[in-house]
Amino acid sequence: MIEDFETKAGYVTLIGRPNSGKSTLLNSILKTKLSIVSPKPQTTRKRVMGIFTDEESQMIFLDTPGLLDPKYGMQRSMMGFVNDSIEEADILVVVADLEKYNESYFNDRFLETLKSSEAPKILVLNKIDTFKDSKQVLPILASISQLGLFDEMVPISALKNENVHNVIGCIKKYLPESPFFYDPEQLSTQPERFFISELVREKVFNFYGKEIPFSSEVVITEFKERDTGKWYISADIVVERNSQKIILIGKDGEKIKKVGQNARLEIEDHLQEEVFLELFVKVRKDWRNNPTYLRSFGY
Ligand code: GDP
Ligand code: MG
Repeated sequence: MIEDFETKAGYVTLIGRPNSGKSTLLNSILKTKLSIVSPKPQTTRKRVMGIFTDEESQMIFLDTPGLLDPKYGMQRSMMGFVNDSIEEADILVVVADLEKYNESYFNDRFLETLKSSEAPKILVLNKIDTFKDSKQVLPILASISQLGLFDEMVPISALKNENVHNVIGCIKKYLPESPFFYDPEQLSTQPERFFISELVREKVFNFYGKEIPFSSEVVITEFKERDTGKWYISADIVVERNSQKIILIGKDGEKIKKVGQNARLEIEDHLQEEVFLELFVKVRKDWRNNPTYLRSFGY
């Protein structure tokens, strides 16, 4: 018996090079900040799941870390998240950065990865706002068409929310007929703790230079919801070396205070609750290559 559904639903995986704007696009589609963003590559480490639902369709988005050649145990695990997300995809959305685009933007490995998936492929050409004249995109569209790899191509600005509705429209076209998987009100299945640790990590990415962001992990150690008074959240920021701990804390604790204040405001916005946030800095030597630490941090 062939079942007839009035709704469409499926998994949509966002992939692309680091910094192309995958997380910004997801936030723009969901009209909420679910996936953290920074100007540094490799901000997204694990997959982030976000659910978009309208009257007739439900898209379960998987945001992934940017594709890279792994150097650390952590990065190997990150690429594992990417490959799993590609396998699970009903539709692949490839996000490319127009500002950085050139003939060799898609390397052979990336093209192989794409070809290995049978899912429909939508190419989102992001950051059109960086072009003086949007017609500059035309020769790029023409040259990418010759690859014969993409079912659709959509130029957008995720940051300025330009043309993002066309991405939604394109995805709908290829979405399988299916009942909804999740309650239409639900935005994600990931626990609150995950989003809170990500918000702290985002501040670390935005407030420190050099190796600090890449060497840091955030672990929520306590999360107490209270009926009266502020909620209590305690988090460890884990770094690899004592010298990094010193930088993270800053003179008289000024730097870590700034992280805490900024993270708290966003956490309060996210939870719609007043929060007391306490941060601790811990050294776990070489954690990015230590299987035990990696496992305990969820990699
Ligand atoms: P991801 O690594 O692919 O998830 O990229 P992010 O979403 O973290 O974005 C990387 C950087 O690109 C951030 O600084 C964003 O603000 C910026 N960005 C994202 N989308 C756009 C866009 O449409 N236009 C411009 N000018 N910048 C963007
Ligand atoms: Mg990202």
